[in-house]
Amino acid sequence: MATVTRAPLPTRMPPREDLNPFHIAQLQFDMAAEFLKLDPALRQLLRTPRRVLEVAVPVEMDNGQTRIFTGYRVHHNVARGPGKGGLRYHPNVSLDEVKGLAAWMSWKCATVNIPFGGAKGGVICDPKRMSKGELERMTRRYVCEILPLIGPEIDIPAPDVYTDSQTMAWIMDTYSALVGHAAPAVVTGKPISLGGSQGRKEATARGLVAVAEEACKLKRIPLRSATIAIQGFGNVGSSACRLFTERKAKVVAISDSRGGVYSGRGIDPLRACRYKDRTGTVVGMPGTSRLSNDELLALKCDILIPAALENVITLANADQVKARILIEAANGPTTPHADEVLHRRGIFAVPDILANAGGVTVSYFEWVQNRQSYSWTESEVNSQLEAIMRRAFADVVSAMQKYHAHFRQAAHILAIGRVAEAATTRGFFP
Ligand code: NAD
Repeated sequence: MATVTRAPLPTRMPPREDLNPFHIAQLQFDMAAEFLKLDPALRQLLRTPRRVLEVAVPVEMDNGQTRIFTGYRVHHNVARGPGKGGLRYHPNVSLDEVKGLAAWMSWKCATVNIPFGGAKGGVICDPKRMSKGELERMTRRYVCEILPLIGPEIDIPAPDVYTDSQTMAWIMDTYSALVGHAAPAVVTGKPISLGGSQGRKEATARGLVAVAEEACKLKRIPLRSATIAIQGFGNVGSSACRLFTERKAKVVAISDSRGGVYSGRGIDPLRACRYKDRTGTVVGMPGTSRLSNDELLALKCDILIPAALENVITLANADQVKARILIEAANGPTTPHADEVLHRRGIFAVPDILANAGGVTVSYFEWVQNRQSYSWTESEVNSQLEAIMRRAFADVVSAMQKYHAHFRQAAHILAIGRVAEAATTRGFFP
């Protein structure tokens, strides 16, 4: 294995931590562009979105009043194929958040080498305080407003924070009504009855476990008996907990927004799911002791998996992380400054654009199945997914050796190099 040297931070790095996702995405891009020696015009093109749409979404609320919500859809880069990216409903959605997440989608699709560009959408709203009818009317009107930007060949939305398969069903139905024919390939993450793919629900966790196996091999840590802490016990965190336990690894800590629990003997994933379904949290689960989310991040363990929110490992706590490997299920959980600290301390980080790419990979399979009007079995989906994740991991290891970069930088170099090559080979019309 080649020596891995510490790459310098660009001079542009601000003195204080900037937690704006778009700025972080640009900083990561600048580092990779330096390694790749991209020409200035191409840099300018790839560090900014291709197009940005802001829409006003009028919705008649259940009380008869009309409220106007603000929504966005951003195409970051579509050189390698149609835009692909989730739709987020959250009070903190901002244009910069959507722009940052869209850029990460471009790099994520390129890391696993699937033929999509990067896109993302969001609506500023508080879905926990809206009825199902209000959410349905908002979704359908949002689709009308962003209609010119989406389509099976243009941009294919998917679920993200507080959107789900029902939201995708409304999008598919509204789009189909507007274009005059059924168009299942306009969204992924649909219910199986509307052309959703087998294996989509746990695809992100399954892909994450495949790269964890590769990371353990690389770092010579046996996954069997490895200790694991998972922050966030939602869709990804709970599925990852089950899949790791099936591989005889020991998940010793899990958490959710209310706090976490620890058991040195290992946490039974099925019991944890049942307890959380019943009580709404993992906190208080019998046979465990309580720990906070901050304590979980600082736990002595082999593998730490942030699977909740962005910006949880920052300059404030990076020197307390004691795991040997960090695997990012969440998007953007580690700030660039914190990443430097982790690297200096010898903690191996598998970045989000590789670690959580299993979800978009099976979304790609769903889109392929919809376009062929043919369904794959779950075992076909899972074996193709694992093959793509392991190949992507090997590609990043090769880039790490070629560029003497650390693993996160190598993933960005690989991905941005692929997008840059597609953009320059297509050329700039006219
Ligand atoms: P989810 O909503 O199902 O679960 C999120 C979990 O995080 C919940 O258990 C919630 O209680 C917990 N949480 C929320 N705030 C927290 C806090 N302050 N501290 C600790 N825990 C907190 O979401 P998910 O689908 O499992 O996604 C988790 C992360 O993975 C997100 O960052 C998402 O963007 C990312 N991701 C998900 C997918 C996917 O396919 N679901 C794909 C790629 C990336």
